[in-house]
Amino acid sequence: MPNSLSRRSLAKLLGAAAGASFLPAQLHGAVASVPASKPATDGPIRLNANENPDGPCAPSLAALAGCAGVASRYPFAKQEEMQAAVARHHGVKPEQVVLGCGSSDVLRMADSAFLGPGKKVVAAEPTFEAVLQYARVTKADPVKVAQTSDFRHDLPAMAAACDANTGLVYVCNPNNPTGTIVSAAELEAFLAKVPPSTVVLVDEAYHHFVESPSYRSALDLARQRDNVVVARTFSKIYGMAGMRLGYAVGSAENIAAMERCASWDNTSQAALAMGLAALADADVVPTEKKRLNGTRRWLCTELAKDGRRYIPSEANFVMIDVGGDVVPVGEAFRERGILVGRKFPSMPNWLRVSIGTPAQTEAFVVALSAIVPARAAA
Ligand code: PLP
Repeated sequence: MPNSLSRRSLAKLLGAAAGASFLPAQLHGAVASVPASKPATDGPIRLNANENPDGPCAPSLAALAGCAGVASRYPFAKQEEMQAAVARHHGVKPEQVVLGCGSSDVLRMADSAFLGPGKKVVAAEPTFEAVLQYARVTKADPVKVAQTSDFRHDLPAMAAACDANTGLVYVCNPNNPTGTIVSAAELEAFLAKVPPSTVVLVDEAYHHFVESPSYRSALDLARQRDNVVVARTFSKIYGMAGMRLGYAVGSAENIAAMERCASWDNTSQAALAMGLAALADADVVPTEKKRLNGTRRWLCTELAKDGRRYIPSEANFVMIDVGGDVVPVGEAFRERGILVGRKFPSMPNWLRVSIGTPAQTEAFVVALSAIVPARAAA
């Protein structure tokens, strides 16, 4: 299928609902004119899982449409192609890349490979919970380290929590649910303190959204140091959460250890074809970064106008202080047809909202004003 087909015609071809409802360009610049591929417009507005409302890029959708002929075939060859493409993309060898059914699968592999009874896993509180949840199966001991007062990983405290029995330390950068980052300098200072026997797993699910000049991907560090593993996903900027594709990059030895814990054939022909097309499309990341960060900036401006407290975010979601227990607030949103993030126990008054289309984000702001009037939140 030619790549020149528009997203909209591809979406029609694939039977997806067409007719994206975008607000005028002034919402976040000229980028608003790009049509979505796109998730269905019926049902609730889903601002609860940090998905990309624009869906996959046109080349990925074309690749998906071309998959019927290989549905009966195991994906061995495509997996190798993907491993090689990721390796080229990041300047490493194919044996330094392991693929997963989403990056959560890769996080599980890291737990299985580097943890076990008597081992410890160190992580920030709050953070993305998958590593801690999967660690239970390995019977490792979780060590949660409270975040700083400005909602960031406390890396010195996390380093101090590591000892010879720490199999894994998890750094989520940017962090979910806070959207905050650790800087390149902080990460390097941290690595100098962590025992070399501890694997540092840096989860960069939201890497592509970051604008701060103090940030750098840990991939450079993974190329230089044997104990750094970086996890990436196609679920966020590439809009492929439903397809399940992620990967990790690390030393050949650590990647081999993770690979031994992988399920056989843990990716699909369709996900791989879409992922390969996305990696080869130089426009996806800059286009989606501009669109979604633009909408996030608009949201934050609205929040600021209302005097609301929120955490400046480097990802496709924002945490907002709702001034009281977030559970009834979330319920009220659900009643209005909008799904928002769950309660994070250490931040009970904070609501995490994912960045949707401009129209969805505007609907969120309107509902927020009704559910939590600005004065009540301030
Ligand atoms: N890592 C982080 C920080 C996340 O927030 C998520 C999902 O929200 C994941 C990993 C998992 O992504 P996936 O399994 O879809 O690749």
